[in-house]
Amino acid sequence: MQRSSHIQRLAPNYIFAQIKIRVDAYLKEHPDGRKLISLALGDTTHPLPESISNELSDAALKLATDAGYKGYNPLIGLDAFRASISENIYHGLLAADEITISDGIKPDLARFALLSGGKQRVAIQDPSYPVYLETSQLVGDEVILLPATKENGFFPDWCSLKGPHLLFLCSPNNPTGVAATKQQLQKIVDHARKEGMLILFDAAYQAYVTDPSIPTSIFEIEGAKSCAIEWGSFSKSAGFSGLRLGWCAMSKELRYSTGESILTDWKRVLHSSLNGVSYLSQIGGIKALSEEGQRDLQQIVKGYLDNARLIKEALTKKGIQSYGGIHTPFIWADFSPKTSWEAFDELLTKYQIVTTPGVGFGSAGEGFIRFSALGKPHDLLDALHRLSTA
Ligand code: PLP
Repeated sequence: MQRSSHIQRLAPNYIFAQIKIRVDAYLKEHPDGRKLISLALGDTTHPLPESISNELSDAALKLATDAGYKGYNPLIGLDAFRASISENIYHGLLAADEITISDGIKPDLARFALLSGGKQRVAIQDPSYPVYLETSQLVGDEVILLPATKENGFFPDWCSLKGPHLLFLCSPNNPTGVAATKQQLQKIVDHARKEGMLILFDAAYQAYVTDPSIPTSIFEIEGAKSCAIEWGSFSKSAGFSGLRLGWCAMSKELRYSTGESILTDWKRVLHSSLNGVSYLSQIGGIKALSEEGQRDLQQIVKGYLDNARLIKEALTKKGIQSYGGIHTPFIWADFSPKTSWEAFDELLTKYQIVTTPGVGFGSAGEGFIRFSALGKPHDLLDALHRLSTA
């Protein structure tokens, strides 16, 4: 096999691998030091609520019976689950047959890259969730990076782009923690329609929006059905990062510039690249969207947002300006003029707290640290105590 020229475009190490190298080196030098506390990872830590775990175990037991056994699932997901997403997430704005179920946003974006096929100009915010850049690089797309800085309120000037592009938008945003307003999204949608652009909207953190005036879906914006695709996930809203469950939503109205349906082709790609998604995960997803499931999950999300508020308060007390942490579990803290790695090293060596250097999400993240509020409350309180006393 020949090595693809595209793979050589990827940065050699994903940010968390680089963090691990530094942390391992620190631990080697300080074998008897204080326990490290991680405020770095974007993974959830709260256990599943019983309402969902009971549903999962009942479904698992049924699989052990002749009547209840299931083999392959429908390729685009269980009908009942797609209907539930249509009703509970999109309030009927998108129909069940405009939703496809996946094993999460990340693998679905790689499958989307198979569809878009390396011929696109792709605009990505810098800093960003690294997968947008990497899946585009892997198929050979041309990438345009738009800086999201303090000066532009972490909202790049998307309207400066002219002509057809794919735009990766993520709101509420990882890593900056900033959530786009309705007006901001309306401006992009209007611009995308005028220029023939396609918005790829990542709504992984939609469950964290607490202000009803902030959109949780791009489809709340007028005109979005003709220019946007949305991905959602149960990883951060329901703690399914290990179970794996997500979805993709797009309207039948969505067309290529040549008039064919993108949804039809998307389903075709799924038929050749996905063999359905775990039945158990989908049963868990149906429960997560039920009234009881939502009640339980909102409590868990509220706990993470309480953590975020405490981190922000602790940073403010130390005179560090921070952003986000209101509609996301991430706080984007400005340590400039220190570099991100200098700030990372200081937090590691002085407080034994592991964080994520902002520069790992793109060069415009230099000088920032991303704090995650998804940790366990007792670890968080311990970390905040260290920050306040040292
Ligand atoms: N999108 C964003 C912005 C994320 O931060 C993450 C995970 O950290 C994902 C997508 C991944 O979602 P999933 O677990 O559904 O693949």
